[in-house]
Amino acid sequence: MTNAEPTPKTATPKTFDPAALKARLTPEQFHVTQTAGTEAPFSGEYWNVWDDGTYHCVVCDEPLFDSATKFDAGCGWPSFDRALVDDKVTEKRDVSHGMVRTEVVCTGCGAHLGHVFPDGPTETGARYCMNSASLTLAKPE
Ligand SMILES: [Zn+2]
Repeated sequence: MTNAEPTPKTATPKTFDPAALKARLTPEQFHVTQTAGTEAPFSGEYWNVWDDGTYHCVVCDEPLFDSATKFDAGCGWPSFDRALVDDKVTEKRDVSHGMVRTEVVCTGCGAHLGHVFPDGPTETGARYCMNSASLTLAKPE
């Protein structure tokens, strides 16, 4: 949680036909976003990419993270210290795999993005540890 004030969620998440998503996404993208999967560290497209741009949700194309907030967490996943706009991502308590973590999903469509941890190195104190498979980088023209 980066803000004291909860953000009201008024928009209804978009829903996508699973068969259409399966056809459009790679198996890894489908696995991560639709079944809360996790890609192997150092395997994804973006963990070591430092280009300028905006990272969008791979499912609904909402802009979620800015490259300016990306940092090298050394963990093998793309990591950000904040969301582009707070209400673009939704944080949920996740007690799977014997751990208590905070899952991060796309507010626009419910796609699983990754987890957020309270050990970030910047003033936000947050480390949004995302899956490359959930994101697509839109570079400036
Ligand atoms: Zn989305």
